[in-house]
Amino acid sequence: MKKTSLLSMLLILLFIVPANLLAQPKVIAHRGYWTKEGSAENSISSLRNAAEIGCYGSEFDVNVTEDGIPVINHDGNIGEIVIAKSPYSAIADITLPNGEKLPTLKEYLTEGKKYPEMKMILEIKSAYSPEAERKATDAIMQLVEEMGVKKQVEYIAFSLNVTLRILENDAKAKVSYLNGDLPPYALKKLDIFGLDYYIQVMRNHPEWIADARKNKVHMNIWTVDDPEDIQFVIDCGADYITTNQPVRAQKMIADQYGK
Ligand code: MG
Repeated sequence: MKKTSLLSMLLILLFIVPANLLAQPKVIAHRGYWTKEGSAENSISSLRNAAEIGCYGSEFDVNVTEDGIPVINHDGNIGEIVIAKSPYSAIADITLPNGEKLPTLKEYLTEGKKYPEMKMILEIKSAYSPEAERKATDAIMQLVEEMGVKKQVEYIAFSLNVTLRILENDAKAKVSYLNGDLPPYALKKLDIFGLDYYIQVMRNHPEWIADARKNKVHMNIWTVDDPEDIQFVIDCGADYITTNQPVRAQKMIADQYGK
């Protein structure tokens, strides 16, 4: 074990509650279970693959075109096409590296609806202005409502503006904040359901583990692929683990919880 991780483990031990009170992390497939052969990040097959192995949730990224069509893509641009400033017709024929069509949110939700036991972890990407972010958030949430999948969708966002807009639209929405710059008690004050922070942020702030628990702020940690990192998240007692290696995470958790 590296010196830094030994130190962070010692710090965690100072702040955690007894092991038998720790949450068992629920596994969220990062951009779907795309590491399965033949799939691709943010594809319909990656969503289906995550459901087939019994993930708690499947995460994906949503940008909105200039004419208001939410599409599934990690970056705000595809090559030279800036999604927020282009009509949907400019990207309708784009394919993913495995040959699948780049999905719209409507297509994604239609597929996810077939697996009601799995949550769809919907990341609303930051946009070029607060107004564009509000418009995008509203378009996405309206579609979720129209598709009848509100209970199956949990939101995540880096933008605090987006995060608060989600809550303005639906005070009961489960939304977790990604940006890593606010302590759990500050999120609690804003009525935000959870934090969803980069693993290094949590290593740097081991005191936030107890703070999150005390304030009942749900804890998700990304993107956790290596066994040593997965173990860190289990030891934190995080509620969720977001990973590109869901099978590995499921196995390590099952081995330690006897299921
Ligand atoms: Mg994402």
